[in-house]
Amino acid sequence: MKKASIFISALMILFSCKEYTKANAQESKKLKETTEEITFNPATIKKHLYTLASDEMEGRATGTPGIEKAAQYIENEFKKIGLTYFNSNTSYRQNFEHNGIKMFNVMGVLEGKSKKDEFVIVSAHYDHLEMKKDGDGDRIYNGANDDASGVTGVIALAEYFKKKGNNERSILFVCFTAEEMGLIGSKYFGKGIDASKFVAGINLELIGKEPKTGPKTAWLTGFERSDFGKIIQKNLEGTGYKLFPDPYPKYNLFFRSDNASLARLGVPSHTFSTTPIDIDPDYHKVTDEAETLDVNVLTETIKAVAIGTTSIINGKDTPTRVTIE
Ligand SMILES: [Zn+2]
Repeated sequence: MKKASIFISALMILFSCKEYTKANAQESKKLKETTEEITFNPATIKKHLYTLASDEMEGRATGTPGIEKAAQYIENEFKKIGLTYFNSNTSYRQNFEHNGIKMFNVMGVLEGKSKKDEFVIVSAHYDHLEMKKDGDGDRIYNGANDDASGVTGVIALAEYFKKKGNNERSILFVCFTAEEMGLIGSKYFGKGIDASKFVAGINLELIGKEPKTGPKTAWLTGFERSDFGKIIQKNLEGTGYKLFPDPYPKYNLFFRSDNASLARLGVPSHTFSTTPIDIDPDYHKVTDEAETLDVNVLTETIKAVAIGTTSIINGKDTPTRVTIE
């Protein structure tokens, strides 16, 4: 009896050890995967930012040769990542004309695994301001923070979600044109979609400088207009990164970026930002250069957007719709 129980005990210990080792291996595999999944390479982020904000792009004003170069860069990245075309489009471009200017949004799709008819949009505007006509010194509005930082985020997130490969919903990555001319690109885009199929809008603007709330924080426009922000906050719990409501309500920022064009159609579409715009010396100035940005802030913010939106991308959470009177 005693012998038998010793034998059984030994067997049990052996078994539980084996189980423990198995569980441990699974746990470390999970941890490894998580770590790998949330890694964004700052060198790649920097490359996107510095290319898009380079003098060669001449300010990326809509309808200029400079913005054409920016578009080609984005298209090339979308192609490398393996994004497909939206709906019946035959390229990444959505061409249209406004006030006699030929323009286009650049968009690519990562098809959803089980809910491919439900779209989450990840966007930023790739246009900026025209060059100064004359004057000495720097005449180029590089628009590094506004909004090469956001476009960098769109490209990096496309690469991230493609690699991750578990987006249950379809993700539409869009770089809007003519935002600076009055949200023209996003308004045009909005006219062509069935808004009921769009479950959320993630827009990125000015995400390259540390906000007043400190490192590893960002703010969201229109926070109270849906529960999108609360979902993000929940997903960011334990990461050390925090999301706050927009600290500048008087600037009416919710209506001043491309998220508004979708929000007006009922889509819970919000803009992530980090920059203390009330004191930023470079906003809409020729000094908005890549060197004034903090690549770590940019990288951390893109990573936070990736983690924060996970439950929306994988179909577990659906934010409440927006109503605008
Ligand atoms: Zn902007």
